[in-house]
Amino acid sequence: MTEFPNLIGGEWTMGTRSVPNINPSDTNDTVGMAASATPAEMEAAIEAAVAAQVSWGKSNPQQRFDILDAAGTEILARKEELGDLLAREEGKTLPEGIGEVARAGQIFKFFAGEALRIQGESMDSVRPGVGVEIRREPVGVVGMITPWNFPIAIPAWKVAPALAFGNSVVLKAAELVPGCAWAIADILKRAGLPDGVFNLVNGRGSEIGPVMIDHPKVNAISFTGSVSTGKTVAEVCARNLKKVQLEMGGKNPMVVLDDADLDVAVGACLNGAFFSTGQRCTASSRLIVTEGIYDDFVAAMTKAVSELKVGDARDSSTQIGPVVDERQLVKDLEYVDIAKAEGAKLACGGEKLDGNGHFMAPALFVDTTNDMRINTEEVFGPVATVIKAKDYADALRLANETEFGLSAGICTTSLKYASDFKANSKAGMVMVNLPTAGVDYHVPFGGTKGSSYGSREQGRYAAEFYSVVKTSYTLP
Ligand code: NAD
Repeated sequence: MTEFPNLIGGEWTMGTRSVPNINPSDTNDTVGMAASATPAEMEAAIEAAVAAQVSWGKSNPQQRFDILDAAGTEILARKEELGDLLAREEGKTLPEGIGEVARAGQIFKFFAGEALRIQGESMDSVRPGVGVEIRREPVGVVGMITPWNFPIAIPAWKVAPALAFGNSVVLKAAELVPGCAWAIADILKRAGLPDGVFNLVNGRGSEIGPVMIDHPKVNAISFTGSVSTGKTVAEVCARNLKKVQLEMGGKNPMVVLDDADLDVAVGACLNGAFFSTGQRCTASSRLIVTEGIYDDFVAAMTKAVSELKVGDARDSSTQIGPVVDERQLVKDLEYVDIAKAEGAKLACGGEKLDGNGHFMAPALFVDTTNDMRINTEEVFGPVATVIKAKDYADALRLANETEFGLSAGICTTSLKYASDFKANSKAGMVMVNLPTAGVDYHVPFGGTKGSSYGSREQGRYAAEFYSVVKTSYTLP
């Protein structure tokens, strides 16, 4: 049986407890056994990270570049194999899994370059003869807590910038996807990262997560996950005056205007709402469609959704893989019942499908209103709704009327409406004629309102979180 151990102070350890890693496409298939750390092991990892950070923080940019670049090269070279592991443990289709692994490799290479480009400033003082220097220094030990839905890309976009800026890391990945996090640990270790600079401590979030976020020697926490866990993390960090960054849920709108190209709109909505089984924080869960195109859009979208092929994530004919686990499937099906009870009209899908995995037919609800629970609460599954809007102004109002603000899209051929939407959408990321999900890795990622808290992730903006600024004055 394959083992996915933790990495603490450079030592692989299965510890005293382990849990099976189950394939959501076939629950008879155990991918391997994963270490499940105790609070004491979390403590040990934090101490190892504290000890290792001192010299890593003083390492030169070439050393950091070489290690991050080597990791990126290996991830890219093994994208098929690691993509298969991702598809097997998380349930993304094989092309989606391979694509996500490639993205992780690109992220490591991007931040390898960033390690060479850490900038400072030199200024004249307002006092005669005094010089002022401003430089970026490591934060110290960064704790990371990640969700299951992007098991390699999200750890990559936290770990790579943390290391590039000279921090040491303790990563706690989601319980459902220990394999991809283990692969990152294994690759970094073999790339020559000194012991203790990167520590992997997988285990139960509710048990070892609090040890990490409350620990006085962890200087910053980068969290991605649900709003409820995120709020707990922020509260504990505030009490400890700890730097914190949260990426959380979404209820992302995709506006379709009368003048949209119908094929472009249906393609963008299908991708945005249902690919990756709808399990993306940036998924288009609310499709807001103006009156003139509403009937044509609903007919075309219903046909497209009902034709999607659901199946084993690693079967080449599959378009939509399984839901990640039983608990999430039950939640998705409950929301189908909630929507029906609220009076939403089910156009297609919404039922559990036969098989050894957690399969569900993608559900499309039409004739919904923005105040229904199905339109205010994040489902995080293959469920989308259509909301009718009178005109562009009404669609913009509905799009912004949500407590989330991660991503928002518009399908239109009008430059006027596209420009207005970019200016007046309240989301952190705006897409024109593109799905709400699917972003570049060299530019900032993040949202507003209940979706994000703290500084942006990814691209050059990652520097804000993973470094602290020091200002020095010198009178020679
Ligand atoms: P979750 O909040 O249940 O878990 C996230 C992580 O927190 C896991 O590693 C979990 O073990 C850990 N955790 C649980 N309890 C904890 C505690 N008390 N203290 C510390 N850590 C704890 O979320 P999930 O179900 O894994 O992921 C789905 C959610 O993630 C969705 O809401 C989705 O929108 C969000 N998400 C957001 C983004 C983004 O960038 N905005 C990206 C992906 C997923």
